[in-house]
Amino acid sequence: MSANLVVLSGPSGVGKSSVIREALKELPTTWLSVSATTRKPRPGEVHGENYFYVSNEEFDHMIVHDELLEWAEFAGNRYGTPRVSAQEKLANGIPVLLEIEVQGARQVRESMPDAVLVFLEPPAWADLEARLAGRGTESASQIQERLDVALKELESSGFFDYVIINDDVSRAARELVQYLT
Ligand code: 5GP
Repeated sequence: MSANLVVLSGPSGVGKSSVIREALKELPTTWLSVSATTRKPRPGEVHGENYFYVSNEEFDHMIVHDELLEWAEFAGNRYGTPRVSAQEKLANGIPVLLEIEVQGARQVRESMPDAVLVFLEPPAWADLEARLAGRGTESASQIQERLDVALKELESSGFFDYVIINDDVSRAARELVQYLT
């Protein structure tokens, strides 16, 4: 039996993780994939929980051995979804959620056309700027790089099956829950 695969995309700083955390309280059986990344951990992030933090060489190895369901370069680092764990969950009837950026969502659409693609959008551009600056995890130039990418990502929202506006985390999470059930 294969269960549903849902992708949540959206610009950096829009609040994807907060909305997912809230939504998963309602969906204890849904499995959130843990990505591999070449980005360095932020303070408080845990290997195996937030990401699998790998070297460039390890990431190359995963690409060459076709171990990633999708992957993309984002703001100077690479990020990818380990293939086997997601496929095993789906094969066992467990719904899977991916939190990935837009290039990855496009790859998932190609390889798994039945996936539901959801885009999380900020209520206003200023919210994105404020959130990225407020979390204090990136330098000014890294924030600018993420905002430049965000502009392009927002133009891609029409590609997605559903768009959720993150005007309120609980409300946005309830909407996401609908797409996961
Ligand atoms: P961050 O560095 O802020 O944790 O993530 C940067 C961006 O990469 C976010 O938009 C996040 O959703 C995305 N991302 C995280 N994991 C993956 C992944 O496995 N694949 C892709 N394509 N994007 C990812």
